[in-house]
This record gives sequence, structure tokens and C-alpha cells, in this order.
Amino acid sequence: MIKKLLEILKDQNIIYEKNVSLKEKTWLKRGGTAKLWIQPENKDMLLFIIRFLYDNHINFEIVGNTSNCYFTENYDPIVIISTLKVCDFEINNGTLICGCGYNLKKLSKFCIENGIAGYEGFIGIPGTVGGAAINNSGARGYVISQVVTRVEIVTTSGKIKWIGNNQLGYKHRYSTLKSLRVKGTVLSVEFDISRRDDKSVMLKKAENYLIHRRVNQENKYLNLGSIFSELDLFKNKRSLRFKLFTISKRVT
Ligand SMILES: Cc1cc2nc3c(=O)[nH]c(=O)nc-3n(C[C@H](O)[C@H](O)[C@H](O)COP(=O)(O)OP(=O)(O)OC[C@H]3O[C@@H](n4cnc5c(N)ncnc54)[C@H](O)[C@@H]3O)c2cc1C
Repeated sequence: MIKKLLEILKDQNIIYEKNVSLKEKTWLKRGGTAKLWIQPENKDMLLFIIRFLYDNHINFEIVGNTSNCYFTENYDPIVIISTLKVCDFEINNGTLICGCGYNLKKLSKFCIENGIAGYEGFIGIPGTVGGAAINNSGARGYVISQVVTRVEIVTTSGKIKWIGNNQLGYKHRYSTLKSLRVKGTVLSVEFDISRRDDKSVMLKKAENYLIHRRVNQENKYLNLGSIFSELDLFKNKRSLRFKLFTISKRVT
């Protein structure tokens, strides 16, 4: 089947690399070797390849910026799809549709520069809009679920579906896509860009958020940002929230 996959990649001019060390590709510089690292350059290519993989029951991983991924050293996946080049960008009637690989910081910057409110807090979060929409990423009181209107996915049976915000079950760093209650690959994310605010006020806020991040987050060693977990120790009585600060680890 991998032979057929290679033929298709060549035929469709989809970029790929063979026997790729995940240490060279991932944020944490960890992991084993991927047999194939595939990098579609737009949504159509991504859709084509994902449908092929689903149809042929080939296991694969899909990653954006890998800034929320931890691959163990002995993990050697067959296929990894990187969405980093799937950066389509389209504005239409008060909404913006971004390809799943669009950079979240870039989106934040674009919105601030154009007086669009609600995106200031994302200025320092590394990653793609696809990764953020799945994880319900956020910072400084801003969460992506406040601005996502719907998410376009390709289901495991190859169908394209738009999932509305209210079907994504958004909670703290959670969505039904993350829990796999909704199964599929995110192709693009639609955002509400109708809220306006003063550009200079938003710019100032974003600058302060970046300073706060620089001062409070460990940059010297590789890390996955802050880890928050909520443990409901006393069900229905009291819930304790544990906030675990940056876990930094020197990677040798
Ligand atoms: C220094 C640092 C600071 C951070 N600060 C914050 C913060 O302030 N707030 C916060 O919420 N997070 C933070 N993070 C975590 C991370 O940046 C976010 O979770 C980000 O949204 C992950 O996006 P990504 O593209 O890197 O996703 P990845 O790490 O590539 O993927 C994450 C998960 O999403 C899946 N996935 C990715 N794209 C798709 C797709 N198109 N379809 C289906 N599944 C997909 C992957 O399979 C994986 O399971 C930080 C991380 C770092 C390293």
C-alpha cells in the first residue's frame, strides 16, 4: 500500500520526504523516524491525500506546528502529514476562513492591524489555527472558541462536513474533535471577524502579553508552554484546580 501511496504522491506533485527523523521536525526535537513525512501545499492536496489514507485504512498522524505534541524516542510512525503549508486565507461577509495550517500568531497580528477584536491574546501562542481549534487554545482570557464559528473537516468516510461551534463541545482546552467524539481531520477554520476595537489599544495589549510571556515563560530550554489540568477530586462537592507551571526539560 505504501508503494501505491508513493505513486500517488508523485502523480499529484505532493511534497514528501522518506525516513525522516522526528528530532529534526518537531518542536521538542524528539521522536523516532517517520517512514513518510508528507507536506501538502494547499487544502485540495490535503483533502486528496487524507481521503486516500482513510480509504485504504493507512494509519497516519496529522500535525501542525507540533507545539503541543510529545513523540517518544521509540515512536516510528509510518505516515505523518504536516499542515504547515495549508495556509489558504479568505475573507467573506464578516467571516474569515483560514486553511488549517495558517499560523495563529500571524492571524492575531492580522486582526490587530485591521482593528478586529478578540484575537489579541493569541499573539504569543505558537501553532496553527487547526491545532488551536482542536485544543481550544488560548491565553490571557482569550480562547479560540470565542471566535471560531465553524470548522471544516473531512470525516473518516471521506465526506466534507462543517461543524458549528456549538457542536464542538468547547471547554477548557477541550473539543469533541480532541476527544475524538467527532472523528476527522480539520481542513479549515472559520472565524468571526465582526467585532471591532481601537487598533492602538489592541496593539498595546498584545505588546504587554508578549512581554509577560517573555518574562514568565522558560525560553532557554525546550518546552510545551504551560500545562494546566483540572482534577475533579471531590465530585459534585468541590473541584480543585491544579495549575502546573511550565515544565521545562533539557533535551539531550
Ligand atoms: C512555548 C509554548 C507556549 C505555549 N503557550 C500556549 C498558550 O498560551 N495557550 C495554549 O492554549 N497553548 C499553548 N501552547 C501549546 C500549543 O502552542 C497550542 O496548543 C497550539 O494551538 C498547538 O498548535 P499546533 O499547530 O502546534 O498543534 P500540534 O502540536 O501540531 O497538534 C496538536 C494536536 O492537534 C492535532 N492536529 C493538528 N492539526 C490538525 C488537523 N488539521 N486536523 C486534525 N488534527 C490536527 C494533532 O494531531 C495533535 O493531536 C504553547 C506551546 C509552546 C511550545
